[in-house]
Amino acid sequence: MAKFGWKVSQAPSNLAQECIKSKYVQDHRVTKFSNGSTTWRNIGRGWHLLQENCMWNLRNGENIHVWEDNWLGVGTLRSLISGPLQRGEVDLKVNKLGRGGNWDLRELSFHLPQAILNRILSMPPPHEESHSDILTPSFMVNGAFSLAQAYDAQLPTPWTNLDWIWKNNMEPKLKFFFWLLWKDRIPHMKLLHIRNIVPNSQCPRCYTIGEDSSHVIRDCSHSRGVWDMGAPQCPRGLSFTEWLKFNLGSKDSFKGVGWAVIFPYLCHEIWKDRTNVSLKNQKPAQPNTIIQRALTLARLRTKGGTYTRQEGGSSTPITREVVDIAIYVDASFVSIQEPVGLGGVIRNRKGDWEVGFSQCTFARDNSLAELRAIKLGLQIAKERNIHTATLFSDCVRMINLLSNTDGYADNYWSDLCECRKLWKDLPGVKIKHCSRTLNMVADGLAKVCRSNADSMNVTRIFPTPLVIF
Ligand SMILES: [Zn+2]
Repeated sequence: MAKFGWKVSQAPSNLAQECIKSKYVQDHRVTKFSNGSTTWRNIGRGWHLLQENCMWNLRNGENIHVWEDNWLGVGTLRSLISGPLQRGEVDLKVNKLGRGGNWDLRELSFHLPQAILNRILSMPPPHEESHSDILTPSFMVNGAFSLAQAYDAQLPTPWTNLDWIWKNNMEPKLKFFFWLLWKDRIPHMKLLHIRNIVPNSQCPRCYTIGEDSSHVIRDCSHSRGVWDMGAPQCPRGLSFTEWLKFNLGSKDSFKGVGWAVIFPYLCHEIWKDRTNVSLKNQKPAQPNTIIQRALTLARLRTKGGTYTRQEGGSSTPITREVVDIAIYVDASFVSIQEPVGLGGVIRNRKGDWEVGFSQCTFARDNSLAELRAIKLGLQIAKERNIHTATLFSDCVRMINLLSNTDGYADNYWSDLCECRKLWKDLPGVKIKHCSRTLNMVADGLAKVCRSNADSMNVTRIFPTPLVIF
């Protein structure tokens, strides 16, 4: 239903949309949803969801109300402060806050908190010559309405972003296993029973009815035996997912191996053992045996087993493309609420570090953060008079958007314009993609910057030896 609403308000024009608009929308105001055709009433059902999850993309600022519209991505400015506004200020539009291509916040009677000011100043200011502002729902993926995200927005639990699982340092197969656990989607008896594959949901090890992910891994008497032998103390009453997260974040160690390293192996070994019991009619293994198996695997991994990254190692040396000057950039984004770290490093022909830089900003999503990292790299190149260089980023999407004009760019329009303008001034600079492995230093700088973010000032770290161009 929200998608219907989006189609009417934003999507490329078509006849059906024109009909509905001309009948029910007058002067940008919608008429009551209770009167009208079935389609119109259906749009009404999703309208509220759409309205609540929309934010403005700032361009010329003529349509955006400073106080009452969500243009910062964190709710309206009015909802972030308390106190009365001055007369006439309610109708203030964002275009009044820009002058000569810069922000000018003197029109605001309020002295805004620094965090909000930083958020405003991190955006490209409104520009008269830009197109008109555009309102986009937060459930857009590459320009198309994402039903999955609209669905997520209605879920009561806010924790739908599982990037932390994919970014964890465990083996890829364990990441997938953890994702299944989190979603309660490992093929346990309860799930098989729902799908009519087994007659009941009885646990094959302890014969309790109702075997789900939580029972298999944590609550079954056979699994508890494993946890009783050395799991770190955790707060009482944690849900299964909270318990998983708690253990993965633990700093404890177990027989010389970090608990966070061995924990995924223990879970996986418990699951493997349970599958053997169920499919091969084996007896459940002793807790000690499971721990030994997990311990062997965890030790292999910490010793530099097959999956350990070997930067500069003899077996898999990292080969960098030989270019005169290389600028590597990366961004560290967690959520729209939190600061974003941008980082970069300039390397010489030999691949040695010349200069590092980092900056703290805000962004609505990861792609925008990556774009701002590229922009920062270009700015630094311009400031340091580097006219011939190759700039590397690990974000293919943004490189493609920058290089050609097609592709969905509404959400990034202002930043793209600024970035393209900078790039035009540096005709000798190429922008290329590189793998994440080659971009670890920029990534590290961005992460450090994000976690220590307390100001918007560009902080430049110049490690020794420092070579100034
Ligand atoms: Zn059981």
